[in-house]
Amino acid sequence: MKRLLILGAGTAGTMVANRLSRTLDRDEWKITVVDQHDTHYYQPGFLFIPFGIYTKADVVKPRRDFLPPGVELILSPVEVIEAERNRVRLAQDNRWLEYDFLVVATGAQIRPDQTPGLMEHEWRRSIYDFYTLEGALALAKHLRTWKGGRLVVNVVDNPIKCPVAPLEFLMLADWFFHEQGIRDRVELIYATPLSAAFTKPIAAKRLGYLLEQKGIKVVPDFMVERVNPDARKLIAYDEQEVEYDLLVSVPLNMGDEVIARSGLGDALNFVPVDKHTFLSPKYPNLFVLGDAAAVPTSKAGSVAHFAVECFAENFVRYVEGAEMNVRFDGHANCFVESGFGKGLLIDFNYDTEPLPGRYPLPGIGPMTLLEESEVNHWGKLMFRWMYWHILLKGRDLPLPALMSMAGKWRNN
Ligand SMILES: Cc1cc2nc3c(=O)[nH]c(=O)nc-3n(C[C@H](O)[C@H](O)[C@H](O)COP(=O)(O)OP(=O)(O)OC[C@H]3O[C@@H](n4cnc5c(N)ncnc54)[C@H](O)[C@@H]3O)c2cc1C
Repeated sequence: MKRLLILGAGTAGTMVANRLSRTLDRDEWKITVVDQHDTHYYQPGFLFIPFGIYTKADVVKPRRDFLPPGVELILSPVEVIEAERNRVRLAQDNRWLEYDFLVVATGAQIRPDQTPGLMEHEWRRSIYDFYTLEGALALAKHLRTWKGGRLVVNVVDNPIKCPVAPLEFLMLADWFFHEQGIRDRVELIYATPLSAAFTKPIAAKRLGYLLEQKGIKVVPDFMVERVNPDARKLIAYDEQEVEYDLLVSVPLNMGDEVIARSGLGDALNFVPVDKHTFLSPKYPNLFVLGDAAAVPTSKAGSVAHFAVECFAENFVRYVEGAEMNVRFDGHANCFVESGFGKGLLIDFNYDTEPLPGRYPLPGIGPMTLLEESEVNHWGKLMFRWMYWHILLKGRDLPLPALMSMAGKWRNN
């Protein structure tokens, strides 16, 4: 019996287990998944919680419900991966699990402890995050009675999960405070380490214009070094300062500590792999999928979905000694909620930046690329249903895994 071990049963790990349990011969393969928690979080839903659009019940479900029968689930933190010896130690009972093939899908998490001042006595008083369920719920409570002032969203550094989420937060905040009748008493500021609202030029221009129209000010090239929680100030490495009344931080995102303990990661605990196949250049039986991988595309559930589709096809060939003939192209596809019942869609890959145009989608589309529309907003809300019922179960979406140029306008 060959042993496939998957570390992490989040978005990527769950999809890998579902896809491979259908394609691998179950008489020949034993699939085991390890995760530290028994609850699965729909993280894109955290964005909506501070504004009362979603509640906790919308974003949590038991992990076991999404794994196929016959796949073993072990609930324990992973203490260390010994890739040289093809084994992993569990923290719970110090047990060693041996494997023939390993898929690391331990994701990325926020690390507010890495920025001085962030997690001191003002954490979850005047400083919040929305990248965790606890943070999003605490912020929702705070916003219910907030009387207004200077709200600053700060990204500590990149890469972060879902790089458009901070922009979406600000645009939803603009809508929310209008609804509350206090928009004229709220200043919205985006302090970002980037030189513009987004990384790539066309999207940066279009999103920057949208923020300007909504009265959201961008403070670019702001590399925060520390926070002074008493003076309510962010202080950058170049001594530039940004004052706030309410700080919504997107702290440094890092891979799990088990990656560092196992000597597998880069400075941020992300694991270097081939960007087309996800195979480790060091270990021929170790793949890394999802946010845990150090590849130059967005850390997003949509990317994990497309990547897993390519990987699953390759894996069944690879274990038979054949060549991996699908080359993942970095395809990312994200709805960008822009408030007032509208949203944008961006679709890009390693080589092609987000372009304007019309995204063909059978039955529902076309969706507007880099342009606001109501149908994109409904697409974003529908995504939650698709996540639980289609995406996690490793079923096909009516979207190609590799990016298509259909409907994209090049000269804009
Ligand atoms: C606020 C927010 C908004 C987002 N919006 C979008 C969006 O609109 N669209 C989109 O596509 N993506 C979005 N994302 C990103 C998306 O949620 C992630 O990219 C996706 O969940 C990554 O999947 P993953 O499997 O790599 O990691 P995860 O889903 O985070 O799973 C990692 C798993 O590994 C487990 N684990 C980690 N370390 C250990 C250990 N040592 N031992 C045992 N288990 C361990 C964790 O418990 C977890 O279950 C958003 C994320 C956030 C936070």
